[in-house]
Amino acid sequence: MNWQMETKPRAKISVDLEKCCACRCCELACSFHHHKRFDPSCSSIRVHREDGKGTLEISLISTCDGCSGEKLPWCVRFCSSGCLRVVTG
Ligand code: SF4
Ligand code: SF4
Repeated sequence: MNWQMETKPRAKISVDLEKCCACRCCELACSFHHHKRFDPSCSSIRVHREDGKGTLEISLISTCDGCSGEKLPWCVRFCSSGCLRVVTG
């Protein structure tokens, strides 16, 4: 499944869930972008996997600033599986 998430100043990030291994590196990267510490609870991107139901969801919350000032959103840069991608144009 493929869809796009809006980030505020930046355009869009596309998500390819088929590639996501739910490692949550994107959450760690995002929390470091915001607070210079690795703490998924203060990440703007949320990865929610329920093994019992076989579901996997990724969403952005309103604190996302699109990684303004960075060349690439950190969630995209540090995604271990390459399932996040900046959509241009
Ligand atoms: S674009 Fe930046 S602030 Fe937004 S979710 Fe990704 S890492 Fe976090
Ligand atoms: S870093 Fe990429 S592969 Fe890992 S949970 Fe986040 S979106 Fe999925």
